[in-house]
Amino acid sequence: MTVRIGVIGTGMIGRDHTRRMQQVLAGTQVVALSDYNPDAARAVQKDLVPDAKVYDRGEDLIAAPDVDAVLVCSTGSTHEPYVLAAIAAGKPVFCEKPLATTAEGALRIVEAEAAKGSRLVQVGFMRRYDAGYRMLKQVVDNDIGTPLMVHAAHRNPTVPDTYGTPMAIHDTLIHEIDVLRWLLNDDYVSAQVVFPRKSSHAHSGLRDPQMVLLETAKGIRIDVEIFVNCRYGYDIQCQIVGEEGLANLPEPMSITLRKQAHLQNEILMDWKDRFIDSYDVELADFIKAAALGTAAGPTAWDGYVAAITSDACVQAQESGQIVPITLPARPALYD
Ligand code: NAP
Repeated sequence: MTVRIGVIGTGMIGRDHTRRMQQVLAGTQVVALSDYNPDAARAVQKDLVPDAKVYDRGEDLIAAPDVDAVLVCSTGSTHEPYVLAAIAAGKPVFCEKPLATTAEGALRIVEAEAAKGSRLVQVGFMRRYDAGYRMLKQVVDNDIGTPLMVHAAHRNPTVPDTYGTPMAIHDTLIHEIDVLRWLLNDDYVSAQVVFPRKSSHAHSGLRDPQMVLLETAKGIRIDVEIFVNCRYGYDIQCQIVGEEGLANLPEPMSITLRKQAHLQNEILMDWKDRFIDSYDVELADFIKAAALGTAAGPTAWDGYVAAITSDACVQAQESGQIVPITLPARPALYD
């Protein structure tokens, strides 16, 4: 079966996912596009999918009878209504992160999906599909004994002036929030944020670097350094310390060069290159499940937990306090 996809939001990631589905992945075809800016949708149509229909309204794309499943790749604040409309139509929906920009909005999606009684939503937390993180999970599950501590870092060479202090949580830490919870099979109970000496490369409105300290229900302590003006590269580090050993996320593959008395490895500069393969794998998983009328991978519940945890971290940034994180009962659909 060919899964006929409608893409809402044809900016940077919507265009890239459209290319992926048309040129890389099997079993799927993009048949519909929609964007707030119709010129953006028509440009993607012209460049990648001349036969796709362009809709002025995302709601009409979702309702179209020839659209089997939906990708929501629009601006984050617009995700919730589109995901709710796809659930109401009974269509599988892949939603780029964030699932919603408020925890209340994410909970509305959880409740709508739970009321339908079947999985329809996959959230775009692509690190769970990264080969390195998957290897790390195998080792954490089998080889290092009980996990005790995590040391992680998320570093970007630089960010634009529009990147403010809370974005370090909502746009940057959000990936660690999800992937660490998945790696440890645990939930967070508190968050604290501390600010080291500020980098002179950070613009005046941005506290950079930051250190986020998370505690899990099982008592694991996590420190995540967010440093978005580190200059030297896009660098993702993750080290899990267990009772019987310690495991590190593998570095991206690169040539080791011995030259002029130096031993060198290249470091990536652009975040888009770091998890490029995982985007293919996550969408292949979505298409496979959508062909059966369901969804796989990171759930709406995972998106909701990420939203609650992000809110606690932003509150911790503002207050300097340790902020408790409390989750309501998880609907049986997500067991
Ligand atoms: P982008 O380039 O700004 O594209 C977003 C597009 O959505 C724009 O064309 C925008 O139009 C359009 N749009 C805005 N409101 C809309 C609405 N109500 N209905 C339909 N389209 C609407 O942004 P992006 O970088 O592609 O990011 C899109 C989403 O993907 C964000 O939520 C982002 O966090 C997520 N993302 C995830 C990853 C990842 O690693 N998983 C990476 C990148 C992005 P206008 O320009 O006219 O507003």
